[in-house]
Amino acid sequence: MRNHLSVIFLPTNKCNVNCEYCFEDKTDDRMTHDQLSAVINKLLDFMEEGDIGGLTLHWQGGEIMTMPAEWFETAYELINKLASARGRYIDHGLQTNMIGYTPLWNDIIARMFGNSVGTSMDYPNLYRKLFRGGPDDYSRIWTRNIQAARAAGIGVGVISVPNRATLELGAEPFYSFFVDELGITDFQVNTPFPGGEGNTTKEALALENEALSRFFIDLTDIWVERGYHEGVKLGPIDQLVAHFSGEQSRLPCIWQSNCVDEFISIDARGFVAQCDCWVTSYPEYFFGNIFEWDSLSELLKSSPARKEFVERPLAIIDQDCIECDYLSMCHGGCPVRTYTIKHTLLEKDPYCYLYKSLFRHTEGVAARLAGREFLPAELRRARVNNGKAKSCGSSSKANGAQGLADFAPDADAGPNRTAQGGALG
Ligand code: SF4
Ligand code: SF4
Ligand code: SF4
Repeated sequence: MRNHLSVIFLPTNKCNVNCEYCFEDKTDDRMTHDQLSAVINKLLDFMEEGDIGGLTLHWQGGEIMTMPAEWFETAYELINKLASARGRYIDHGLQTNMIGYTPLWNDIIARMFGNSVGTSMDYPNLYRKLFRGGPDDYSRIWTRNIQAARAAGIGVGVISVPNRATLELGAEPFYSFFVDELGITDFQVNTPFPGGEGNTTKEALALENEALSRFFIDLTDIWVERGYHEGVKLGPIDQLVAHFSGEQSRLPCIWQSNCVDEFISIDARGFVAQCDCWVTSYPEYFFGNIFEWDSLSELLKSSPARKEFVERPLAIIDQDCIECDYLSMCHGGCPVRTYTIKHTLLEKDPYCYLYKSLFRHTEGVAARLAGREFLPAELRRARVNNGKAKSCGSSSKANGAQGLADFAPDADAGPNRTAQGGALG
């Protein structure tokens, strides 16, 4: 954890809809204000201990809007009071399915959540469903509610997960649906994974890497042509292009040196785990229960499950990723995607092929946008090797050049060290 703490916070494990691909094992648990105070105090203790100045609470569920908006009025006051008494800063983000949205939420969304919400929708929608009603009913209510929220001045960002039908239709209809039809200018595409209890939908969920790569690459090109200059945000593609352009960027958690250094998640029962994917689905990977420990740092330090996450990059990099040109930005990818598809933490992310293709393509896009020549990594390596061969054969000076070139393997080991730093940090 660095000087800012991020907590994915689930004050309720209950949801008001019935998505077929949901990874959460939902319960009726919901936090009281007293329990919330206890959690916030332990987070503030943790921040004081680690000299951490700020905390972002990413509020979600279950579904957050199964709780009344008034609960958040009281929660917001309470959190502000506790934080300011300890000289710390806490801010808030909101992720909701928007199915239960009414204008009663507008005031607290404006004051507590910076007048913006994150929500989810797929195109086409196959799996997001109401308890009584199919995907079309869900999509209709969702569209009506996000339009109402936007009319009230609320910024709406969308996370979308491609499915087989998305890939069959291709990237153009997908982009047009969100940007042209709905007017969404901030969306993010996540890869699917079969988390939680199995069902037939989840069996078919993981998508074939090559088709998914084509989709992401086409989407990148459409975004460059139609969205880049218009300020459309399309994660993680826009962040990759920014990264390769040498601009400030925020790559998603799947490509952090180790997500264990970035987040924890706490659910309505007080369980602590890596993120929402784990805290709602995999009790064997819970780090502990915050209500049962006096100190969050002791809980984290004592957790064998967390130790596995900490050790993951080192374990997989040597066996799977050491030769990869993109190791320093990918670090082996996401633990939960690995676990749900490979049933172990200790392998690289099964979307490796997609990531490499996307890294290579967005690196080329960044070079093109900057008017630079772009050489894919394998050609860059070939040029270096070619150079080495020539130098070796020419003179003793050239041997000196060879000597400098001998540092190349050390340079390659850099990302490995970075990953270790991340893992041990
Ligand atoms: S995916 Fe989200 S909205 Fe859908 S059932 Fe699961 S928790 Fe609810
Ligand atoms: S397990 Fe995957 S989704 Fe969860 S925080 Fe880590 S990288 Fe992100
Ligand atoms: S792209 Fe693949 S090989 Fe490269 S670091 Fe990521 S998971 Fe490992």
